[in-house]
Amino acid sequence: MKAFAIEKKEQCTFTTIDHTAPKEGEIVVAVKVLGLCGSDLKTYQGHNPMVEYPIIPGHEIACEVVEVGPGVPAGISVGSRGTVMPYTRCGVCPACKSGRFNTCSTNRTMGVARPGAARPFMTVHHDDFIPCDGMDYSDIALVEPLSVGRHAANRVPSVDGKLVLLYGLGIIGVGILIELKRLGAKVIVADVAKDKLALALRLGADYALDIKDAEFDSTIDRLSGGMGLDIVFDAVGSAKIVEAALAKTAVAATIVFVGYHTDTIPFNTKPIVSKELSVYGSRNALKADFEGSRDNLRSNPALKDLLVTNRFAFSELTEAFRYWVDNRGSVMKILVDMPEGERK
Ligand SMILES: [Zn+2]
Ligand SMILES: [Zn+2]
Repeated sequence: MKAFAIEKKEQCTFTTIDHTAPKEGEIVVAVKVLGLCGSDLKTYQGHNPMVEYPIIPGHEIACEVVEVGPGVPAGISVGSRGTVMPYTRCGVCPACKSGRFNTCSTNRTMGVARPGAARPFMTVHHDDFIPCDGMDYSDIALVEPLSVGRHAANRVPSVDGKLVLLYGLGIIGVGILIELKRLGAKVIVADVAKDKLALALRLGADYALDIKDAEFDSTIDRLSGGMGLDIVFDAVGSAKIVEAALAKTAVAATIVFVGYHTDTIPFNTKPIVSKELSVYGSRNALKADFEGSRDNLRSNPALKDLLVTNRFAFSELTEAFRYWVDNRGSVMKILVDMPEGERK
């Protein structure tokens, strides 16, 4: 079958790969729609330290089961629609032993550390399949990206009725916003992209502030009554935002770091100590987050109309990446429509 591969920085090709017959517990799925992730873009731009080139990118999958191997439970059959969890779990590391599979120490994310889904068919374990029957493929392709923000929002024990400050409106930040609103929080979002701030308001954000605005600090002060915020999310991960986010916390506040900088960044720990902050990290998502994200998309089909900003054909994947590079401020989610393709 024909797969799309990134050979090195900004150099892509279509390559022929073999189909793998399903073994015990495995299924073959036809990829119908593929979402492009920020990590795929980083790979295209040559900025993804976890990638070994060449790599088939892609891990946001909407698919249909086309073949079922031996030992697959009856609930999954030919014609079932769903998505695939793109993470691996070894089952024996301390994280896996404590049930935190999303933080497995040897996780190899699909399309990053192993071949991805930019191909018409793939063979996966049934445990990784999240059934999404009756849903549109475009909704299904959003399950994984929104599950990451959903997981992050749920790191905080209680957000109901609280005023929350969220930095960063990439798809993870947007997933956090959607979940925070579902859980009853009031949310201030902060970003520099006007289109994303406008989108956040349509998604229910209570306030959308431009970080570069001269009034940014005074507006935050006014909204928090001069007390700072009880809950702050950093879905950016730059040195500047880490410091800014810490500075905006109230006494005894909670701060959640979702994005992280790939380099080591110096920052002052004084606010954490002097204000007795609780610091959380958040990584990937658990099966329950996928299921929650799926259920939310199932009951809110209008979400995709807000989130999917662009569509490309599989044959135009290189153009899709080029477009994203040139339109960072306005692209929220690019979906790729996959062709029927040959399985052999
Ligand atoms: Zn992703
Ligand atoms: Zn593990």
